[in-house]
Amino acid sequence: MNPAYINGVWSFSKKQDSFPVFDPATDENLGLVANCTVEDAQSAILAANSAFLQWSKLTPKERASFLHKIKEELLLQQSYIANILSRENGKPLPEAMGEVGFAASFFEWFAEEGRRAYGEHIPAPSVGKQIVTVREPAGVVAVITPWNFPIGMIARKVAALLAAGCTCVVKPAEDTPLTAIAFAKIVEKCGIPNGVFNLIPTSRENAPSIGKLFAESADISVISFTGSTVVGKQLYLMAGSSVKRIALELGGNAPFIVFNQADLALATCVSANRIFVQKEIHDAFVDNFVAETNKLKVGRGHDQGVNVGPIINNRQFERIVDLVYDAVNQGAHVVTGGKALPNLSSQRFYAPTVLTKVTKEMRAFKEEIFGPVAAIIQFQTEEEVLQLANEGNIRLAGYFYTNDLRQAWRVARNLKVGMVGINDSLVSTCEAPFGGVRQSGVGKEGSKHGLDEYTNLKLISFGGL
Ligand code: ADP
Repeated sequence: MNPAYINGVWSFSKKQDSFPVFDPATDENLGLVANCTVEDAQSAILAANSAFLQWSKLTPKERASFLHKIKEELLLQQSYIANILSRENGKPLPEAMGEVGFAASFFEWFAEEGRRAYGEHIPAPSVGKQIVTVREPAGVVAVITPWNFPIGMIARKVAALLAAGCTCVVKPAEDTPLTAIAFAKIVEKCGIPNGVFNLIPTSRENAPSIGKLFAESADISVISFTGSTVVGKQLYLMAGSSVKRIALELGGNAPFIVFNQADLALATCVSANRIFVQKEIHDAFVDNFVAETNKLKVGRGHDQGVNVGPIINNRQFERIVDLVYDAVNQGAHVVTGGKALPNLSSQRFYAPTVLTKVTKEMRAFKEEIFGPVAAIIQFQTEEEVLQLANEGNIRLAGYFYTNDLRQAWRVARNLKVGMVGINDSLVSTCEAPFGGVRQSGVGKEGSKHGLDEYTNLKLISFGGL
């Protein structure tokens, strides 16, 4: 069985319970994993709390040397981890390799950024007084992550919190715990002191009770969650009982807008779900986009040349089938795909699909799809598309393509989101702050701002000098 990692010890759950992990491409059972309960989570919180006393006292430079080691080890084991990741998540191997590299970049970045967790000296209003601020580590952080980036999301949080001087209890997604366990082995190998990093895998059934414990425990200072808006809201509500800081990275469904003035070749190379295309170039865009979509090879993430893997689990698969059905029922047109591919190695493959004539009433417009389905919406004016793109409360990112400078600035400022990409669909990098507004989340990850979630700004005021 694949164990949990609590206080530096590889352990089974106290109840000796376990849950299976499946390869979504083949239904093969990849192994059993310790199914942690509230009791195990409590042990992990206790361990993280006592480890905090020493870890928070190390100098940022000392912590940086541990973080650099993790980065090095991640890169050494890049293909090994990418293999595990691709098996349990289904994504193509090159993407999995890229994700491990992405994870490593956060350790490098925060190793050094932790050394720049500056306070400030503030000019005092009266004689004999000096005012300074210092940044102090917040305490124990509870981390909950999703399946779509099994190591990227853990790394983005754990690198920042370790650099800040915090310790943590990590609950990985039930679909992808093996990647998290491989990461925990790296943490152990790099000599991170016992209790600083704890990993407690759980089944989906156990997740709510652990979430409740994290939210209510006085020994947890911060919750950092990436996942659905529904679960994020529950955690936010519960965290109110202990007035605890909570960082939330929730749903996206980013609009991707292609204006008449866009470079079509550039704009076609995307993997967006909700694509708005201006009338004059709509048909040309759809032709190019469909031609590119039809080139995509669907299959097991491990197989050579595969671009699109299986859908992660049955729940998501059924969502995608329903979503396309709902769109077609309301008048959307399937230009390519629109069906399951039952003859591959499992029942969880869906054909890359392009829908046109999508309207705002359809689920494909309103929900994050998490599958190879592009919903194309035709628009006429900039005002119209801004209104459509700004509908609802999901406000993570927005992307658009144009070569008109004035339009670029105008639209960037008028998209009501946390991040904007102009002629750029890859905005997530360790140097830049990632995060949404409204119901897409609270707080930023990455960049110098990523430390803020895990530190407290303390005021120190000297008098009588
Ligand atoms: P998705 O729909 O992408 O699986 P979820 O928000 O359901 O997104 O899951 C993201 C993470 O949150 C996973 O690790 C999952 O186990 C966990 N989770 C699900 N429900 C709860 C809950 N009630 N409390 C705490 N964590 C939860």
